[in-house]
Amino acid sequence: DEVLWSGGLGIVRKLEHSGFQAYLVGGCVRDKLIGRSLHDIDIATSAKPEEVMATFARTLPTGLKHGTVTVMEAGRAYEVTTFRRESDYSDSRRPDEVEFVLDIVEDLSRRDFTFNAMAFGSDGMIVDPFGGQDALRAGVVDCVGDPSERFGEDALRMLRAIRFASEFEFALLPDVWEGIIQHRQKLRNVAMERVSAEWDKMMSGSGPEQANHFLFKSGLLAHTKEALPDSVKLAAERYRLNGSTWEWDKWGQATSEEASLGNLLQLPMLSEPDHRWAALLMGAGINEEDGAELFRSLRFSGKRSDRITGIMGINEMLSVYDENSVRTGWVYAVLDYGRAAAEDWCTVNEILDETLADARKWLKEMPVVSVSELNVRGDELARSLDKPPGPWIATLLEELLEEVAFGSIPNDKDSLLSAAKQARGTSNEQG
Ligand code: ATP
Ligand code: MG
Repeated sequence: DEVLWSGGLGIVRKLEHSGFQAYLVGGCVRDKLIGRSLHDIDIATSAKPEEVMATFARTLPTGLKHGTVTVMEAGRAYEVTTFRRESDYSDSRRPDEVEFVLDIVEDLSRRDFTFNAMAFGSDGMIVDPFGGQDALRAGVVDCVGDPSERFGEDALRMLRAIRFASEFEFALLPDVWEGIIQHRQKLRNVAMERVSAEWDKMMSGSGPEQANHFLFKSGLLAHTKEALPDSVKLAAERYRLNGSTWEWDKWGQATSEEASLGNLLQLPMLSEPDHRWAALLMGAGINEEDGAELFRSLRFSGKRSDRITGIMGINEMLSVYDENSVRTGWVYAVLDYGRAAAEDWCTVNEILDETLADARKWLKEMPVVSVSELNVRGDELARSLDKPPGPWIATLLEELLEEVAFGSIPNDKDSLLSAAKQARGTSNEQG
């Protein structure tokens, strides 16, 4: 952190020695002030991209159109961007053109929130024309200028407002919240990948409960570019109408039973984002199939989607069993979804306080959870039963798997082969 920060200041000084103005800007200044760890350093300068490239030995032209050059120093990357102004956002997402300017304050004025619109100079002075430090002290998200105008220009900022509020446990000022309500239908202009990245960052951050409260309560989810599954939209609409009010200190209190997002308050207790996703969707009453559809729209990898929806699927499966038969349901669920999903499900449910107290124990007691763990192979079955190989082998292995999993027969070759003979005998008689 210190190394990154002083490396950034080194670049600022070098630009100043070449006769340009330069500052650390944006997220790194904000994070430094609130003592949050820095992940990247942005530098703003009066130097044009070609001048930046001429000043440093190792540079990459990462975003010349927007005035951005990446400077490599001591193995670290710093984004150096020319002071600029943005004009006319006709698509509610990207400025039609960017224009280089010579004034840091003008550059800061295009930025979204007051705490993101501060610059740190090599003299240690903070340029803070919009009251970013006041906002940090007060714990509020405030826009540079009129929120309604700023959200109208770029709809992504609505999600960023919610992300920063939840990450820092800040309140959204009333006019910021009203700006979101007013412009929520413009979320359509934001690519699904961006919506997904913001939502996933919220899920991974320190305030997933607050973030989802705002997302569901604002009505934003009804206006994504690709429609989300009906059950997701329905849950959001119910919460919007009947959930708690927007003030940050009241979230989580649903005013009606059906409007609550069940597991909202427990989300931070789960450390893995995928577990949080599963808990959120289960609490909102979303089923496995709609979960999968949601993650397709959000462009999640198949692997992540399967992991999360696997947890949801196990939950759905268990819900049809009662107390007396739930161990049976659990064994079937483990056989269907596998050991990893079963362990994920246990982790989530331990937090939700709906623990099937013995689920982990039962899982451990299962001698096998997949056909590959059986101590007999398909070719051995074929030879022992003296039948040509065919689809019957897979069916038979599944039957044996169930019997071993339930503890009816031990997992050794002799027992498996004799059980196989018996099973084939019976089914031959029947067939
Ligand atoms: P983090 O990296 O922690 O998500 P950040 O503030 O650094 O937060 P970035 O997306 O890295 O966010 O953007 C860097 C800076 O660029 C911001 O601090 C802000 O000043 C400005 N910025 C980013 N996105 C927007 C936007 N959509 N509208 C206006 N300004 C923006
Ligand atoms: Mg950043």
